[in-house]
Amino acid sequence: MMKPIGDVIKNIPVSRSGKSPNGSAIRITRKDDVRCPICQDAGYLRADVPPGHPSFGRLFPCQCKRNELDERRAEDLRRLSNLDAFTGYTFDDFDPSMSGTEEAFEAALAFAQEPDHRWLFLSGPCGVGKTHLAVAIATYAMQWHHMSVYFAVVPDLLDHLRATFDPNSGSAYDERFTSIRNAPLLVLDDLGTENATPWAREKLYQIINHRYSEQMPTVITSNVELRKVDERIVSRMLDHRLTQYVQIDAEDFRRPGDARRIRWTSRR
Ligand SMILES: [Zn+2]
Repeated sequence: MMKPIGDVIKNIPVSRSGKSPNGSAIRITRKDDVRCPICQDAGYLRADVPPGHPSFGRLFPCQCKRNELDERRAEDLRRLSNLDAFTGYTFDDFDPSMSGTEEAFEAALAFAQEPDHRWLFLSGPCGVGKTHLAVAIATYAMQWHHMSVYFAVVPDLLDHLRATFDPNSGSAYDERFTSIRNAPLLVLDDLGTENATPWAREKLYQIINHRYSEQMPTVITSNVELRKVDERIVSRMLDHRLTQYVQIDAEDFRRPGDARRIRWTSRR
């Protein structure tokens, strides 16, 4: 049972006294404008337990505080995902009649519509639209489910983790790592192309293993042979109880010399 720390505080006179211009006393109490009725805006609750209990004296974040943290994390992940760089990568922009991509399109759309406790793994050569579908899922989940999403190209994610990693500022790093690991929807594009150090490989494994054991919605794309990927990761990705695995066999539609642009039939 939780008790607002305000309960303790409110028995203490907390009002500030002052003088109005005409000299009469005014009282400004902190109870006037309370946004959270649970904690009286203190943000934390104290466990209502007797002395000697392990939780005695401990403070717990109130729901309002947790919501605030979730919002801050969602905003952080949204900024990191940089999905603005992928405008036009929606389901509507995808041409599912492109040979070999129909199943991937349907699986991606079904996943986006109901991402609960599932993984989707799309594999296939470059240029068949895996990134397009991955971005479309991320965008759909944000727009229609109001989910907090983290989208990352795996080599960039590992670079980012390396760059942020500073043993002297451990808590900021841990905070970032935790919010990536716990993103309500995680989309990892281009797994297996990273030139990972053992440290980075371990970080990636930790993220994936956490999401595997917690059955958190995760989308992974890859264009490399699975034998080149960490076998601990592969064994989780191929667990059919959790993952829908779609292999795309399609011609490479990518224009020679253009790494990002994909020539969709609808845009010819
Ligand atoms: Zn509260």
